[in-house]
Amino acid sequence: MRIGVVSDIHSNLTALLTVLDDMGPVDALWCLGDFVGYGPWPNECIELLRERGVQAIAGNHDLAAIGTISSEEFNGDAAIAAEWTADALTPESRAYLLTLEPMAEIEGVTFAHGSPREPVWEYMLSAGTAAAGFETISTDLCLVGHTHIPSLFTEHESGVPQVSYMAGGSSSAVDTARLIVNPGSVGQPRDRDPRAAYLVFDTETGELAWRRVDYDIAKVQKRMEKVGLPRFLIERLTYGV
Ligand code: ZN
Repeated sequence: MRIGVVSDIHSNLTALLTVLDDMGPVDALWCLGDFVGYGPWPNECIELLRERGVQAIAGNHDLAAIGTISSEEFNGDAAIAAEWTADALTPESRAYLLTLEPMAEIEGVTFAHGSPREPVWEYMLSAGTAAAGFETISTDLCLVGHTHIPSLFTEHESGVPQVSYMAGGSSSAVDTARLIVNPGSVGQPRDRDPRAAYLVFDTETGELAWRRVDYDIAKVQKRMEKVGLPRFLIERLTYGV
């Protein structure tokens, strides 16, 4: 099976359409949460991924948009965007997000938005967080999002996992070591590469391929301006921060 893995779309429909086109045909589509928040097209992103039969979990921004967690837990601009998103969601989008959990086991793989230890808020950035993650999971493979940084954490017999940043075009393979994998963010990359990030997982060869694709950032920024989203959120897309 060829599986497309996306995360942190953040209502960026232009980036999502570009990613799905670049990905080509896949047998399954997996999403690690944060369908919405920050960007201008929350319902369109949810609808498109549902049309493609996505299997998914919820991120902290999805949970804020439906009121499961309070937008007061976010910083200023993120809170403004969360409130804008909550108002913009259709009843159908809201009902769909309500069905999602921040962590799940799907097809023998652990999905956790932040980390397996704390799927709503914790950022998986360090060997220590990864070690705690490996202790928590019972599967060989775990997929995370939330940091918006494409990365790979490999379990090691020393107890200290190896931490790797995965630039576009890099790949790894599911082998004997257990892995925690982050595809990066479709809609708001934060590794100083503004291109949309995603991953393709080939279950036959075990290959994990991290990919990047250029999209029309100006189009998204124009729409964000039109609907009145905060200036900083508009500008950061240019720089991938
Ligand atoms: Zn996010």
